[in-house]
Amino acid sequence: MKSCNEKTIIQAEGLSRYYQAGGEVVKALDHVTFSVKRGGFTALVGTSGSGKSTLLNLVGTLDRPTAGDILIEGQSLAKATEQQRIMHRRERVGFIFQSFNLIPTLSAAENVEVPMMLTNVGKRQRKARALELLNRVHLSHRASHKPNQLSGGENQRVAIARAMANRPALLLADEPTGNLDSKTETAVLELLIELLTQDQVTMLLVTHDPQVAAHADQIIHLLDGQIERIESLSQKDAAVSTGDQQ
Ligand code: ADP
Ligand code: MG
Repeated sequence: MKSCNEKTIIQAEGLSRYYQAGGEVVKALDHVTFSVKRGGFTALVGTSGSGKSTLLNLVGTLDRPTAGDILIEGQSLAKATEQQRIMHRRERVGFIFQSFNLIPTLSAAENVEVPMMLTNVGKRQRKARALELLNRVHLSHRASHKPNQLSGGENQRVAIARAMANRPALLLADEPTGNLDSKTETAVLELLIELLTQDQVTMLLVTHDPQVAAHADQIIHLLDGQIERIESLSQKDAAVSTGDQQ
């Protein structure tokens, strides 16, 4: 019964999102088809305005497609009810944003607890899980600090812990290292990859930095709302080594 489809976690088919802006139609995403394997790290790259955030928002049900569909673990998001979309967002997806989006009045630990409040995890369990996650992002010693008492890299690590709170199958990261210096960027990226590997999480990460994308196993290049090409890095490595032997 189990087919090779079991390995596919995201399947986008003719996915489109058009906007009406001042009597004009903007094709932010125009018939995009691709798939993502479970446990994989896919980078979405392309110039500003190419549709990267639009695509990520559709996967996260922050937005609805104009046409086409996206299947997550075989479930159609286009056909899903509003309640199913909310459940998807809360339980299956963890979001990481460039600007962290932490609640300034809450401590690091309390910020990590927020998604678990939405899924009705008990208080004691919530606190224990928040501390465990802060420990995993090497921030145990900062649990009671508020965002303005933390560095950019530390805040992004809190946001990563928060994204992992409900044990998501999917991490959606929109330029997560865009506000960080290059040394901090590398540390945050290594941490993300470590968490993905340990927890079998699938990550879709938007970046315009080729060095960040180089860590992915698949790179989707977007251009004007369409897929310009899909690069498989494992295949690329194989091609390079074949070339070396010739
Ligand atoms: P990226 O993240 O790659 O920079 P976006 O996905 O944010 O690009 O945007 C893709 C295109 O859609 C851009 O041309 C942008 O101007 C347009 N767009 C995004 N959101 C809206 C909106 N709410 N209304 C009209 N056009 C939009
Ligand atoms: Mg964007």
